[in-house]
Amino acid sequence: MHDLTLCVHHPAVNEEGYASLAVPTHRASTIVYPDGASFMARKYRGFDGYTYGLHGTPTTRTLEAQLTQLHDGIRTVLVPSGQAAVTVVMLSVLMPGDKVLVPDHVYPPVRSFCAEYLAPRGIAYDVYDPLIGAGIADLIDETVKLVWVESPGSNTMEVQDVPAIVAAAKAKGTLVGCDNTWATPLIFKPLEHGADFACEALTKYVGGHSDLLLGSITVKDMALRQKMKEILRGFGIGVSPDECQLALRGIETMGLRVTHMGKVSEDFARRLMGHPMVERVLHPALPSCPGHDIWKRDMGRSSGLFSLVLKPVDDEAMSAALSALRVFAIGASWGGTRSLVAPQAVGPDRTATAWTAKGPLLRVSIGLEEPDELWTDLSRLLSVLGQAPANRAA
Ligand SMILES: *Cc1c(COP(=O)(O)O)cnc(C)c1O
Repeated sequence: MHDLTLCVHHPAVNEEGYASLAVPTHRASTIVYPDGASFMARKYRGFDGYTYGLHGTPTTRTLEAQLTQLHDGIRTVLVPSGQAAVTVVMLSVLMPGDKVLVPDHVYPPVRSFCAEYLAPRGIAYDVYDPLIGAGIADLIDETVKLVWVESPGSNTMEVQDVPAIVAAAKAKGTLVGCDNTWATPLIFKPLEHGADFACEALTKYVGGHSDLLLGSITVKDMALRQKMKEILRGFGIGVSPDECQLALRGIETMGLRVTHMGKVSEDFARRLMGHPMVERVLHPALPSCPGHDIWKRDMGRSSGLFSLVLKPVDDEAMSAALSALRVFAIGASWGGTRSLVAPQAVGPDRTATAWTAKGPLLRVSIGLEEPDELWTDLSRLLSVLGQAPANRAA
């Protein structure tokens, strides 16, 4: 062969005896066929076969299969972010004239998607009290095609009664989708509790290192998977095998990470109760958290994210307290090895329930640093807050 040809033909090498524990990163745009007949028959390969890199490679399929097993589903669909996991479910289920119900504590970009994308296209949404439980039945009329749940809510931590909501939805033939990012399939498996879609922001605990963005949707019904894959094909959305390889590496340590972070977060949450600068601790493992009994019944274990309602302080005091941190990083997102804190504005995102707390909400994500060092750092933040002039006077 000519050198120019040799440059583009990779020689086959002996793979015999090569047994690595790592999942190979298979990169592809085009998929080639051994002969004309198999090319002609490519459309019969369906979404489980290989037709184009955008629709799947052995690397992406490995991650899909692993999540499917963990969730006890039949197929998983991967998307470029956790937000996309939510929107792809909504786009695959809802048509103009339909309505979706979303909980008041929902991940705020989901509410924006309902208001700014779905509503102008004739798809309505209603916001409900996350603690509504079986009472959701009263909101499900014949236009409601999807009930969304997020349990616990990732800012205010209300634990939802998923089995009761599922029972009410099933009675009316309505689908239920669950954002399970806080729990991961290690703590809660929505499909086992009757939900139709189990969504994860893999960006958080599965990735586990703050260096990737991915989302997943696991289902137990092939028709739902087919619809979502058609939506993705239509929009031209797929995921990179490199991201999936990172997620496949991250998921190997997820069990240990989540167990450790859960223990530390429960310990910190208990110790923070009664702190003079803390109005309320919102951690599903504490009775002070709305839905705590449901957590006890359905989950019984924690991951590393919880929130503090602080005593009233002004922005200046909050800013000074955040700047005093030496171990925690300041930032949203969560689930990585580094501990994070982020003040979150809750009030503006509430429409179905009132948020009456006078002080700010501080979200805490526990990472893998030495716990005593984290505790000292968090105590430093609270003591700087306590020294703010308004609080010294009080
Ligand atoms: C972070 C998060 C998302 C979005 O995930 P991205 O990958 O950042 O888009 C969705 N739901 C919950 C509960 C989240 O915490």
